Amino acid sequence: MFKKILVANRGEIAMRIIRACRELNIATAAIYSEADTAGIYVKKADEAYLVGPGPVKGFLDMEQIVSLAKRIGADAIHPGYGFLSENAQFAHLCRAYGITFIGPSPQAIHLMGNKVKARELAKEVGVPIVPGTDGGVTSVEDALAFARTVGYPVMIKASAGGGGRGLRVVQSDAELRESMEAAGREAEAAFGDGSLFIEKYIDRPHHIEFQILADQHGNIIHLGERDCSIQRRHQKLIEIAPSLILTPRLRAEMGEAAIAIARAVDYDNAGTVEFLLDQEGRYYFIEMNPRIQVEHTVTEQITAIDIVRNQISIAAGKPLDIRQEDVTLQGHAIQCRINAEDPRNNFRPCTGTVTAYLSPGGIGVRIDGAVYKDYTIPPYYDALLAKLTVRGRTWEEAVSRMHRSLEEYVLRGVKTTIPFMKAIMEEPDFRAGRFDTSYLDTHPELFNYDERTEPEDLVLAISAAIAAYEGL
Ligand code: ADP
Ligand code: ADP
Ligand code: MG
Repeated sequence: MFKKILVANRGEIAMRIIRACRELNIATAAIYSEADTAGIYVKKADEAYLVGPGPVKGFLDMEQIVSLAKRIGADAIHPGYGFLSENAQFAHLCRAYGITFIGPSPQAIHLMGNKVKARELAKEVGVPIVPGTDGGVTSVEDALAFARTVGYPVMIKASAGGGGRGLRVVQSDAELRESMEAAGREAEAAFGDGSLFIEKYIDRPHHIEFQILADQHGNIIHLGERDCSIQRRHQKLIEIAPSLILTPRLRAEMGEAAIAIARAVDYDNAGTVEFLLDQEGRYYFIEMNPRIQVEHTVTEQITAIDIVRNQISIAAGKPLDIRQEDVTLQGHAIQCRINAEDPRNNFRPCTGTVTAYLSPGGIGVRIDGAVYKDYTIPPYYDALLAKLTVRGRTWEEAVSRMHRSLEEYVLRGVKTTIPFMKAIMEEPDFRAGRFDTSYLDTHPELFNYDERTEPEDLVLAISAAIAAYEGL
């Protein structure tokens, strides 16, 4: 097993990795920028190193990170999500330095980093893909020809896109003509690769994804699915497991499809295969994310399998100690992303200092966070402050537990998604499990939520208690 892992990330996912390492008795080294000196993960790691320059560059500087790992005697690097997690060159560089990259091979990352290649691969192994252009589109004429055969709307996608960026829905020839060039330019700027392809726009699908674990000995299993249909701007906000609409038969079939795709790229480590499920119950592969995902928590809560621990042991060369038939899904889990953003203002990110903080607790409640009283949210990173995950025996129990937990959650000083999430937990369609990716667009009334989340006297009592504690 590894002796020391360098965590090449920050915030809640750095905390998540450090926790797994503690349980495995592996030492941890954090990296941080000047904007993150007060980060809780910096304090929790056994060692911490300032990387620069500026708030972001240090997290992306491959040479700096790998030579740091070498210098401090770290034998593995966990990239988390975002930053270098899907960078094949980085995975390669780690190898060159004799350091284990906790993730799949550079080849698998390279293949999956390109949605056009990933689609071709899925097609080769007989998994349905969204009707789309064969390969990338280079001319507006080809794009128009494809759109006319499948009919509008269609979606323009960046081959290298991710994180909800590089996607555009277009309704007409005129819009398609207009958008192609801008989409290419944007993709070039954002991902360093301007290539595009076009997909038919599926009407009100569910986003269903399968969690995969694959070891280096050819064993591949899936841990069931997550439904991540509650999204804004094609970015996930609430994730649940299991899906409320999959039959056991469809689960088995889609799980097999996900495994077939992983097998086709000799995949190892944790990964997620994403599908759209249309109104008629047909599924289509969209992409594979070769990394840990933000929403892995809901799968952990219903399977009792620690995905990050498995990532580490797989990277160390150990065979999986779980077989497919050992995986059972128990109860229902929901995760709400507690973001520092203002839902009413088009989810604009907010910064500020947290003036009061008390996270919820009790049965079935899990917090993955990196926030505390007096923490100042840096403006340079994404807006995720904490993830609130609950589990219940039934869907109804999970929803009321989430509602209760959001009511308990005190986070003052900055706007968050907490009151908005609470409104969703009260909304009849959500409670009845009737939602797809159009949910937020079709429920504008949710934005009339009550801003107040907890009584003022509770906040005052918490602040007084914390002040007294700190004064000791
Ligand atoms: P990203 O790499 O940014 O995650 P994805 O291809 O996974 O991009 O798509 C993100 C989201 O966009 C999906 O979860 C879904 O809501 C929507 N989406 C993607 N492709 C389509 C499509 N062909 N039709 C309808 N919605 C789509
Ligand atoms: P998940 O499916 O794990 O929720 P997200 O799509 O929300 O993944 O992405 C997780 C993190 O990774 C976010 O911080 C997102 O901005 C970032 N991310 C994902 N793909 C890319 C990409 N291709 N380029 C830049 N950032 C990305
Ligand atoms: Mg995706």
